[in-house]
Amino acid sequence: MKLGIVGLPNVGKSTLFNAITKAGAESANYPFCTIEPNVGIVAVPDERLDKLAEMYNPEKITPTVIEFVDIAGLVKGASKGEGLGNKFLSHIREVDAIVHVVRCFEDGNIVHVDGSIGPKRDVETINLELIFADLEMLERRIDRTRKNLKSGDKKFQIEMELYESVKAHLESGKPARSMTFDSEQQQIVDQLFLITLKPVLYAGNVSENDLSSLEANKFLAELKEIAADEGSEVMVICAKVEEEIAQLADEEKADFLEAMGLDESGLDKLIKASYKILGLISYLTAGPQEVRAWTIIKGTKAPQAAGKIHSDFERGFIRAEIVAYNDLMACGTYNTAKEKGLVRSEGKEYVMQDGDVTLFRFNV
Ligand code: GDP
Repeated sequence: MKLGIVGLPNVGKSTLFNAITKAGAESANYPFCTIEPNVGIVAVPDERLDKLAEMYNPEKITPTVIEFVDIAGLVKGASKGEGLGNKFLSHIREVDAIVHVVRCFEDGNIVHVDGSIGPKRDVETINLELIFADLEMLERRIDRTRKNLKSGDKKFQIEMELYESVKAHLESGKPARSMTFDSEQQQIVDQLFLITLKPVLYAGNVSENDLSSLEANKFLAELKEIAADEGSEVMVICAKVEEEIAQLADEEKADFLEAMGLDESGLDKLIKASYKILGLISYLTAGPQEVRAWTIIKGTKAPQAAGKIHSDFERGFIRAEIVAYNDLMACGTYNTAKEKGLVRSEGKEYVMQDGDVTLFRFNV
């Protein structure tokens, strides 16, 4: 899963990105991920892995990971710009969701590109650039479809009507994600690869002092209002504090969070929130060699989930032996769970659930 970090200059993107890359120091364990200077990889925190590790004593524990891409260059006029503008657009097209950092802290020493703090204006500036980029692409598609209309195929008529309604929506300054589509329309719209269709998580960057009294932050309230308008979520971070947390050893981290009156780091919250907006869940595999979490989209069936591990597992899928994590923990051992009939044998149509501890049976 890939998340793109966007936001105006001087809102705290690099600070947050630094925290991410520092926290993800062990990314060398993930050779399958492409590591570039603007990519940071972090493990998805999952305490179930530690509990399973106590049970299995594995040689290694492998959490699932998220890639964060720092998307620089998104400023007013970027969609019209050459070079840099195009580069950021191609980066942003590749991500699954967008984390939009919005400045909600005041600091006289740090200039704001527009002279003052204004979450609504900031969000609109960025969203407009993305809307412009989408409009440009959509217009090209409309031109092509117009030519196809002559064939008399009704399919093109349906597409055209949909494109026109998306265009009108974008022209009113709203992102495509705030539209609702039926399943047929959704399929057509997905083919457009619109940037503003991607889910967005707004990250309100507040000052260190405001972390303990968020209600007092009027910028945050403003941000929540715009996010609610388009059905997106807001989370609060303090990028500066995240940077400090990322430098601490695990033991110090807990003490630091407690002293700050926080129950988890902003980065962990960000990862969990991203998981939620993307509709992701994890299933788990456990054995003496490895205890591991695997990311799948909610609704994935057993063979496709198996395919995450290896394509052979999907092709030769026979069945999955599954015990729910909570059941396994309550029983204490896999064998006890089996005796109690809690280890189920599931077939091809089984829809995987979050926390399924799974053993796939397959033919090679
Ligand atoms: P970017 O241009 O969006 O990447 O912004 P930076 O991460 O470079 O941050 C711009 C300035 O704001 C830097 O001087 C940061 O130290 C400062 N800054 C970022 N986050 C915070 C924060 O949470 N609190 C305070 N006080 N300053 C911050």
